Amino acid sequence: MTDSCIFCAIVAGRQPARTVYQDETVTVFWDIHPQARIHLLIVPNQHIRSLAEAEDVDPALLGRCLQVAAKVAREQGIAETGYRVVTNVGPHAGQSVFHLHFHLLGGNPLRLPLG
Ligand code: 5GP
Ligand code: ZN
Repeated sequence: MTDSCIFCAIVAGRQPARTVYQDETVTVFWDIHPQARIHLLIVPNQHIRSLAEAEDVDPALLGRCLQVAAKVAREQGIAETGYRVVTNVGPHAGQSVFHLHFHLLGGNPLRLPLG
């Protein structure tokens, strides 16, 4: 855990969030500035700066994040209409919170192209 990290604080319950799922490895909560009707953040409980550090962590943790994204999408009723899972890494991608997270976006048609 990192004291100054907002997502570590949410995972630990020190900072309020609209949490929809939590287990021993992953926490899911609503994004505070939604960019789609459904905009949830899938966050590993362990502090990892970004996907750039993927090789330093248990690959099962990364897989579990994607499994939970699919599960939560199903529970939110967007499995059939479709959704997007995105992770931003570094400045060109606009990463603003340096604790790995996957955006789950759906509930309406999403814009393309991504770049
Ligand atoms: P990034 O830009 O790093 O890919 O995404 C960070 C996301 O976290 C943004 O979509 C932003 O709205 C969201 N966010 C930032 N601070 C908070 C917060 O305190 N609570 C919640 N629920 N979302 C946050
Ligand atoms: Zn953190």
